[in-house]
Amino acid sequence: MLNDADLERYARQVIMPDIGEAGQEALLAAKVLVVGAGGLGSPAVLYLASAGVGNITIIDDDMVSRSDLNRQIIYQTQDIGNQKVKQALAAAKNLNPDIKLSTLPVRATIGNIRKLVAAHDVIVDCSDNVETRYLLGDTAHREKTPLVFGGAVRTEGQIAVFQSGVDGFEESPCFRCVFPAMPDTSQAPGCSEAGILGPVTGVIGSMQALEVIKLVTGIGSSLTGRLILFDGLNGSIMDIATKKRSTCMCCGVK
Ligand SMILES: [Zn+2]
Repeated sequence: MLNDADLERYARQVIMPDIGEAGQEALLAAKVLVVGAGGLGSPAVLYLASAGVGNITIIDDDMVSRSDLNRQIIYQTQDIGNQKVKQALAAAKNLNPDIKLSTLPVRATIGNIRKLVAAHDVIVDCSDNVETRYLLGDTAHREKTPLVFGGAVRTEGQIAVFQSGVDGFEESPCFRCVFPAMPDTSQAPGCSEAGILGPVTGVIGSMQALEVIKLVTGIGSSLTGRLILFDGLNGSIMDIATKKRSTCMCCGVK
């Protein structure tokens, strides 16, 4: 049951017939893991916290740098040099003290990720490296957990939802079906080499939070089996249908 403070805090979304009190209760009960508290994780965590996602875990082993501040809007200049997860937790708690926030100042690894994924309802990939992305893709499939993938570099972004391990979505592709080969870093430069405009991570991170809200409340059409490519320079969006590959080394026939 929502109390009076909840009804006031979430009034603008509870009033929407699609959400209602039942949707808000689902959000408050949800457990969401955000991997990476950088350019994508900043808006994602802020929007998830403000929407009242009741249990948010943030994992990131990095410290706040001055060069993060053009896009990582959860941090302030005074946070430079501090643990990102500590500052992200403080910012999200200030925004919404009624939700439960947990943080892990470590990297997602093969040793810790399985238990973490299994303990959450939705995984949000806001990481900044391909190794973590493949680790999350494979683990989310195995643990039958929805994965909201996002990426951004320079002026372009992409977002997709993977639910190949989830009952009823077995025919949808996993992360490896769509990205079969791990690119080397010369072909897929990260933000530190290629650059990034802050609003681009803002668009993609916000869309990731929206996909989480849609998955938790069951509203709308999720981006499962789709890949959205955002071209910030052109102001255009491409919506690509993606397919399961029977030879996929993650979800294909063994
Ligand atoms: Zn696959």
